[in-house]
Amino acid sequence: MRLVRGLTMGNPGYARHRAGLTPRLEYAGGPAAPAPGWTRIAPQHGVAVELGVGDRLSIVDPCGEQVSDLYLVSAAELREQFSAGRTIDYGNSLYVSVGSMLFSNRSHVMAEVVADSVGVHDLTLTPCSQDTFDLLYPEFEGAAHRSCFGNLCEALVPHGVDPDRIGTTLNIFMDVWTDESGELHIDPPPTRPGDVFRISAHLPLIAGITACSAEKSNNGHCTPIDWRIDRADGTLG
Ligand SMILES: [Zn+2]
Repeated sequence: MRLVRGLTMGNPGYARHRAGLTPRLEYAGGPAAPAPGWTRIAPQHGVAVELGVGDRLSIVDPCGEQVSDLYLVSAAELREQFSAGRTIDYGNSLYVSVGSMLFSNRSHVMAEVVADSVGVHDLTLTPCSQDTFDLLYPEFEGAAHRSCFGNLCEALVPHGVDPDRIGTTLNIFMDVWTDESGELHIDPPPTRPGDVFRISAHLPLIAGITACSAEKSNNGHCTPIDWRIDRADGTLG
């Protein structure tokens, strides 16, 4: 089987990223600390933030090779949530990057991608969960393990979100692809320290964000994720 990494599914983000065509962010943070004005999610943890219309949420990988799961819920109607399927359908692409609209299960635009220095993100996989580790990491022998699903629940349940409604996430910086047989492969995120993904909210939102807990998705090491909100009124959130 000849494996053509990243080409079988035709993600144009690979070529742009490799060619250095994706604009970088001048990010002053790093492994030791986030940049001033930014907030850090500790490795294998998560957070929920509230966004108003026009607020921009930026997510940065400060160390490189780190996935961040993002899940959006309408603040006005908690049963309206991010739909990866509708986002794929209406965008006519398995991928999102600058200009892509993120749709809800009710077919409303929840947010738009307004900056992206990577172009490699996944819309197909659910957030890692305790079950993920029990099923796919037999070496852990069922031991308790922090997970994106658990972290999203911890962050979103206090806002009234039902865990059973948390579906497929937008897995920022996650490199999922298939070979000619259709088998899935998960490669380390291609991110370099300071790579950024930014959305602008089209609805009032509650956004769950994680620093992914799955070692295999992050090249064996789980590192932090930094975020900040630039409010539509010019203030920093
Ligand atoms: Zn995860």
